[in-house]
Amino acid sequence: AYLDRIDGVDGDIHAFLHVDRSTAVEQARRVDARRAAGEELGPLAGVPVAHKDVFSTSDMPTTAASKILEGWRPPYDATVTARLREAGLVILGKTNMDEFAMGSSTENSAYGVTRNPWDLSRIPGGSSGGSSAAVAAFEAPLATGTDTGGSIRQPAAVCGLVGAKPTYGGSSRYGMIAFASSLDTPGPFARNVLDAALLHEAFSGHDPRDSTSIDAPVPPVVDAARRADVEGLRIGVVKELGGEGYQPGVLQRFTEAVELLESLGAKVVEVSCPNFDAALAAYYLIAPSECSSNLARFDAMRYGLRVGDDDSRSAEEVMALTRAEGFGPEVKRRIILGTYALSSGYYDAYYGSAQQVRTLIKRDFDAAFDNVDVLVSPTTPTTAFPLGERSDDPMSMYLADLCTIPANLAGNAALSVPCGLAPEDGLPVGLQIMAPALADDRTYRVGAAVE
Ligand code: GLN
Repeated sequence: AYLDRIDGVDGDIHAFLHVDRSTAVEQARRVDARRAAGEELGPLAGVPVAHKDVFSTSDMPTTAASKILEGWRPPYDATVTARLREAGLVILGKTNMDEFAMGSSTENSAYGVTRNPWDLSRIPGGSSGGSSAAVAAFEAPLATGTDTGGSIRQPAAVCGLVGAKPTYGGSSRYGMIAFASSLDTPGPFARNVLDAALLHEAFSGHDPRDSTSIDAPVPPVVDAARRADVEGLRIGVVKELGGEGYQPGVLQRFTEAVELLESLGAKVVEVSCPNFDAALAAYYLIAPSECSSNLARFDAMRYGLRVGDDDSRSAEEVMALTRAEGFGPEVKRRIILGTYALSSGYYDAYYGSAQQVRTLIKRDFDAAFDNVDVLVSPTTPTTAFPLGERSDDPMSMYLADLCTIPANLAGNAALSVPCGLAPEDGLPVGLQIMAPALADDRTYRVGAAVE
């Protein structure tokens, strides 16, 4: 049914870069065979999932929506991919995204834009916009994404879905094409909090192949989603994430969600996190710095595209030609920014200062969590904006992640849950819930109470 739905609507939405009916059906048959052989399968066995094209899949191409990886087929599965298969999930295909996960609108894909199912003239969010659009358009009940600065929560918010950024290190990065390794976090999309929790639990947990993976039990997110109560919970409203520059209807629905939580027995207080004002600036030094290092591996020798490779050219020339043609403008912008910030003489002033700001933001969170159990804010300052509106203005595009970036810099758990439609445009608004690292269950508990 989902494959038929994809056939029916994906021409308009373009959520998928790759769908392979026979591979999907074959996976489903294998799940049936495992069940018939008496294997105890988990609650998601047989459930289809749309998989972001940043996760390596041995049976499907993996491009990170970049021309430089066109047609590349990895020789192995990412840990997240392998765990989806173990749990019996059926991977329908690979979803569109901003190239190498750099963006907030999915307009930076080398393979065309994805449209928001709520309004086809608007963006589905990004970078995991193919995943959010697929679930919102009923092309899949579940999807995977990655969140480096907001790329799961922001598309979830603007598509009316639940999306979680797990604790950094709570889900494995092995086999996931790297953008900014100290921030990248795989996470789930779903139509409701319990489904998101089930997917979160299915692919999370320690992985010895990722040295930053945490060797601790997966937080009990499914139990928390079922519990769905906030009686006595202390909730902090982050003063710095709201007010001027935010769309009025977003603030209205956010305020109503907070009032709802209070009426359900939560204790609500205002909390100040003064260093959050510098989060965006710090992120746009740290993330490009890490990306400039990570993307050095696309050297025209190891993967995918190779341009101008004849006997007349040196390896350096082939590399330069390949990278010039293979990377899109946003990726180039970030590589240039990052190499500059890391270069000798500038390192302390830019990268070093950004790392200090990162520590201050972590301390803001620590101080806040001494007094409250979770922090809340709108997930995004506005609802889905029109396609093209911000594509020529990187700064306005970067502002889409104003509220989500602090949790990445600190490595915390965070979740976005729908909290109604903005009255002025009828588009979905997201409530963001943030909790300390490894307290992901709290975000699900509060999210389930709100939905
Ligand atoms: N929009 C942010 C960026 O462009 C975040 C991206 C992400 O989380 N992958 O870097």
